Amino acid sequence: MRIRNILLGTIAILVATGCSDGDDPRQPVSVTYLGNDGILIEAGDTKIVVDALQTIATTFIPVPPDELDRLERGEPPFDGVDLALVTHVHADHFDARSVQRFLDNNPQSRLIAPPQVRAALADTEQVDDIAPEPGMSADIQIAGARIRVLHTEHFNQFGLDFSDIENFAYLIDIGSQRLLHAGDINSTVENLEPFTLANEGIDVAFLPTFAEQLTTEIAAIVEEQIAPNRVVGLHLLESVREEEAEAVMDLYSDGFAFTTPLDQRTFE
Ligand SMILES: [Zn+2]
Repeated sequence: MRIRNILLGTIAILVATGCSDGDDPRQPVSVTYLGNDGILIEAGDTKIVVDALQTIATTFIPVPPDELDRLERGEPPFDGVDLALVTHVHADHFDARSVQRFLDNNPQSRLIAPPQVRAALADTEQVDDIAPEPGMSADIQIAGARIRVLHTEHFNQFGLDFSDIENFAYLIDIGSQRLLHAGDINSTVENLEPFTLANEGIDVAFLPTFAEQLTTEIAAIVEEQIAPNRVVGLHLLESVREEEAEAVMDLYSDGFAFTTPLDQRTFE
């Protein structure tokens, strides 16, 4: 009798953890906006943050300091984050002190980032050394999510040359969704074509939709080369965020932009 109860208890625990895992395709995916290009992705008990560990407080929408502190400390709702992704080394996406503090306080968490980002961090086994060459990709499975790392070009904007910046975009299979977080991707046919993303059935593409990125030409390339079911705009200029959010809705059918930290959407 006692053995039977123990067995039943074990099965109940297995079922419970199985159901709450991020690799369960029935799981809805919740996305919380944190600021600029930063989001928290959750499905079951799997949590991933992208480009949230940054401290820049001008031009773009900042991550609220209290939320950043909780994230770095691993306090709810940021407890048990499995994975932090950084798209590139620019300060509006990455702050070395913030990432280091996060890693030190969250020993369960792993980090994927381009070599330019990793060079600014202390050596630790928490950091994966996945680093595809430009135009190439590599896959990794972490904590209930499958991640494809795409080494893409960074766009040039405001007359600046960012061609030496390693920009990793991330194709993330989690729960019921296939998400793309593109970082500061250069949305040209030449840059996107090698990744054949239009064949991937992407549910939601998180794109940098601000300033010179908000054109009908880029929207057409996105529709053709990425073909997501839905575009979510990030990285808006704080001073014109409402106007840019409206432009996202005009350019992309069913598209919208995050403008307010802690706003949340569920995708299923
Ligand atoms: Zn950048």
